[in-house]
Amino acid sequence: MSRIDPEFSSEIKKYGAKDFSACFNCGNCTGVCGLTDKNANFPRMFIRQGMLGQKEEILQSKELWLCYACGDCSETCPRQAGPGDYMAAMRRYAIASYEPTGLTKLMFKSNPGFIVLTFFLAILLGFFLFTLKPGHEVSRWLFSILPYAVIHNMGLVIFSLTGLSVAWGVIAMTLKLSKTVDNNEKSKGNWWSSLLMVGNEIATMNRYKTCDEDEDSFWKEKHWFQQPWFVHWSIMWGFIGLLVATVLDFILKDPATQIWWPSRILGTIAGLLLVYGTSLAINYRLKKVTKAYSETRLADWIFLFFLWIAGITGFWLEVSVALNANYLFNHIVLLIHTIISMELVLLFAFSKFAHAVYRPLALFFYFRKGQEAKK
Ligand code: SF4
Ligand code: SF4
Repeated sequence: MSRIDPEFSSEIKKYGAKDFSACFNCGNCTGVCGLTDKNANFPRMFIRQGMLGQKEEILQSKELWLCYACGDCSETCPRQAGPGDYMAAMRRYAIASYEPTGLTKLMFKSNPGFIVLTFFLAILLGFFLFTLKPGHEVSRWLFSILPYAVIHNMGLVIFSLTGLSVAWGVIAMTLKLSKTVDNNEKSKGNWWSSLLMVGNEIATMNRYKTCDEDEDSFWKEKHWFQQPWFVHWSIMWGFIGLLVATVLDFILKDPATQIWWPSRILGTIAGLLLVYGTSLAINYRLKKVTKAYSETRLADWIFLFFLWIAGITGFWLEVSVALNANYLFNHIVLLIHTIISMELVLLFAFSKFAHAVYRPLALFFYFRKGQEAKK
């Protein structure tokens, strides 16, 4: 057990937790949560640990990542302690603790200076990439201010930092979660089945779906394609699809105007999913349709808008290329698309994006533990 830290409560509030000290431990939140079970008693347990300042227990917890932030628990809390926001704040705290540079802390605490700095770097790198394409000369002036080699090397340093930060974070989390796996579990060979279960969850979001099935749920009467699990699914698969299409384009060939090239078809479908998912997520947050969507931090707004802009500008460019519309305006759209894409890559390790790595890892440990419990 870790040392108790009474200052921890005020630290967690900087990551978005509400007044969770109002909690009187009634257990309504745990009762209403469709994802908790006897092996994973949350969110009440985490609120207790937060009040006691048991940081180590929280960082070693895989159960923290089982929550999909549906907000059902916050709707029913009689003390307005915001257990759903609390869980999200804890995950931000965990990501910031695993990541070694301290930049994630600045991001999650919505530090304006850090956000402006990353955007400035993205603009520089965006201009740099933009100039690699023959025919796009708009940013030539940049090299009269900063030599080509400086921007090139800066890009290498920044992307290496991002990659190393992700790798470090994954190792740090694995070491923490491993402490909760006993020797008996380690000796059992259930790696593959646990991996398959993680893959199944990523592909189907079956656990997330159970959040919205409650009789009282706002989403119960909504179509499946309007529900939060599908919004999340669309954004995630849209982004992955675009990433794969971009890599395929790069490796196989530049298909220029061939809109029916397989990687272009994949990119189009993935782009539609991304724009659909981010549009709904932004709309739900603007309208504050449920408690889960009523509080959005600056870092989350930035993340969503950048994804949305990347999707919209991507489509604009696809149509422009297909129509061979070589106008200055389309060059500017390409520049914006490149800058936003750079920003998303830069922020991968230091933003909400990082949960794409941490949640599957935690699920892997959770499924291993679950399989052992059934034996
Ligand atoms: S429902 Fe609210 S008051 Fe009750 S245990 Fe959960 S957070 Fe605490
Ligand atoms: S936000 Fe939803 S999934 Fe998370 S603890 Fe609350 S009820 Fe459970």
